[in-house]
Amino acid sequence: MNELACKALIIGGGPGGYVAAIRAGQLGIDTILIEADRIGGTCLNVGCIPSKALIHAAEMFHALGDASTLGAMGIARGPGGIDFARTIAWKNGIVARLTGGVGALLKKAGVRSLRGHATLADGKTAIVAADTGEQRIRCEHLILATGSEPAPLPGLQFGGDVLSSTEALALTKLPASLAVVGAGYIGLELGMAFAKLGVRVSVIEALDRVLPLYDAELTAPVTRRLGELGVEVALSARAQGFADRELRIADSGGAERRLSAEKVLVAVGRRARTQGFGLEGLDLAMSGPFLRIDERCATSMRNVWAIGDVTGEPMLAHRAMAQGEMVAEIISGRKRAFDRIAIPAVTFTDPEVVSVGLSPEAARERGETRVAAFPFRANGRALTLQREDGFVRIVARADNHVVLGVQAVGAGVSELSAAFALALEMGARLEDIAQTIHAHPTMSEAFAEAAHLGLGHALHL
Ligand SMILES: Cc1cc2nc3c(=O)[nH]c(=O)nc-3n(C[C@H](O)[C@H](O)[C@H](O)COP(=O)(O)OP(=O)(O)OC[C@H]3O[C@@H](n4cnc5c(N)ncnc54)[C@H](O)[C@@H]3O)c2cc1C
Repeated sequence: MNELACKALIIGGGPGGYVAAIRAGQLGIDTILIEADRIGGTCLNVGCIPSKALIHAAEMFHALGDASTLGAMGIARGPGGIDFARTIAWKNGIVARLTGGVGALLKKAGVRSLRGHATLADGKTAIVAADTGEQRIRCEHLILATGSEPAPLPGLQFGGDVLSSTEALALTKLPASLAVVGAGYIGLELGMAFAKLGVRVSVIEALDRVLPLYDAELTAPVTRRLGELGVEVALSARAQGFADRELRIADSGGAERRLSAEKVLVAVGRRARTQGFGLEGLDLAMSGPFLRIDERCATSMRNVWAIGDVTGEPMLAHRAMAQGEMVAEIISGRKRAFDRIAIPAVTFTDPEVVSVGLSPEAARERGETRVAAFPFRANGRALTLQREDGFVRIVARADNHVVLGVQAVGAGVSELSAAFALALEMGARLEDIAQTIHAHPTMSEAFAEAAHLGLGHALHL
């Protein structure tokens, strides 16, 4: 067995692990990154990027065929069509370009990358079944970035026509019908995309509304759009099993019905990857099913760090990246702590949904608030885009107007999330946002207008 040694050993090459590796390399730390599958992890290969590519392609296809949208602008359309295998090949090309880019960045930073499954022997040693043979790697610092995987549902194990998001994003032929179990962000993003591609989509959700992590006011435009797209939504309903192209569904009263579907996408959440690589032997403290970490991403064992999805919610790529960068800096000797005020939560449904900081309800529990929402129907840019659905909402303290949270729902509002997060991190007040000149005509003007409204004097409402 080959022996290798390094200062930082990172297990998992997703956004948490590869960012930690790049930053560690930049800081001159002798670093080895182990990835069992493909660099880029869930996010680049089977998550954020491929899903957004599919969503974009679906939107383009749908717009071509949406007579109500095009007709109003005086645009006539010719016969359309889709070669879905080509759509997926295009999506794979984007993934390959990005993962190739990450590989190059790792090299540039002087990181040694090994492909293979790592098993922990102890908190300073991993055995890697690498393409080049078995390697024993000793390190001073171990960073666990093993991520997460789709969680199955009892009675609906993955396989055959029961898909996780990974298989759904790799289909090369569109099914005639798709039942999506779970109306969280992954289920709805993919469900809406397939609906726009002409698939008959049904959504089954155990709770009584879609996107339950957001408040009902914020998700109402998404619910409306689901209806417009012809997506059947069954709330307070549980999927029980799937056989002969029929999904058994029980409602809250226990009554059972059958829904016909060619494929089923189970999107009921993701579970931390903590099994199958000797983690049990380290006996690290857990927080439920996740690795427990402190504000420096330190686990209960000295010089063993954990970042990303394996450490729990919010399971988001940008959180994993921020943690990875921080841990690399801590290992290099810098004083850092994960004290971010805001981790934006974005859902790329149609319309998109953004939440940064506290919701009105959570803020109210802390004291008196001002809540102001400015609708896109009063925003010029939204009208030119034929997207007047949605609003920007600001939640601020009543006494000093410090912004506590910003939410938005509308076309393309994911791009506003940076402004919202910056406002929170900078401790902005309503006055700061209202007095910042926002370019005209942009959807971002709704942010400034919401601040004006919070101060009692919206200009365009
Ligand atoms: C369909 C979908 C859409 C998503 N969309 C978004 C989005 O829009 N925005 C967003 O922020 N997040 C999104 N996410 C979530 C995002 O992908 C994850 O939060 C992110 O990838 C977590 O990064 P990570 O580094 O913690 O883990 P992962 O990306 O899961 O990477 C972990 C890596 O570790 C490797 N690994 C595990 N065990 C071992 C071992 N023993 N040896 C070697 N390698 C190992 C795995 O092969 C994997 O590549 C989406 C997820 C899905 C499924």
